[in-house]
Amino acid sequence: MFIELDSLFNQGINSIKLNYKFDFSDEEINGVFPFTTPVELKGEIKNTSGIVTVSADITFSLETVCDRCAEDTKLDFVIPMEHELVSSLNNEETDEYILVEDMKLDIEQLTLEDIFLALPVRFLCKEDCKGVCFRCGANLNEGPCGCKKEIDPRLEALLGLLDE
Ligand SMILES: [Zn+2]
Ligand SMILES: [Zn+2]
Repeated sequence: MFIELDSLFNQGINSIKLNYKFDFSDEEINGVFPFTTPVELKGEIKNTSGIVTVSADITFSLETVCDRCAEDTKLDFVIPMEHELVSSLNNEETDEYILVEDMKLDIEQLTLEDIFLALPVRFLCKEDCKGVCFRCGANLNEGPCGCKKEIDPRLEALLGLLDE
């Protein structure tokens, strides 16, 4: 999905509205294909006194599994897309700008890149997910599993000292 930027850079157009839905259902993350619903992009690309910026919100959900308890998990995200677009670079390589030499912006690719940059390292069903018991595998969010708690030997020694 390419957007023509020539009108914005060279023909006095001030703004191009962005309102897209992208299908990323063939994108894999950690062995699952979590984009089961379309990814929405809403915002605009504008030219403000010669500075061309893209400013939008990327709204999407991921259907994945919790990295701690392995339960199915649906996570909702809204992440900002903020970039400055330039048609040429005076200096060397930089990450601060997106170069659109041929006046074409691959907005779909940019959306995907921004999503991957913003995703958390781990997906959790909830902030305080208790995970599974490492001995019996029970989901500890559903209550204690009945395994005997092991006391850290160092803690045990300390408790022994307190008893004396
Ligand atoms: Zn979990
Ligand atoms: Zn257990």
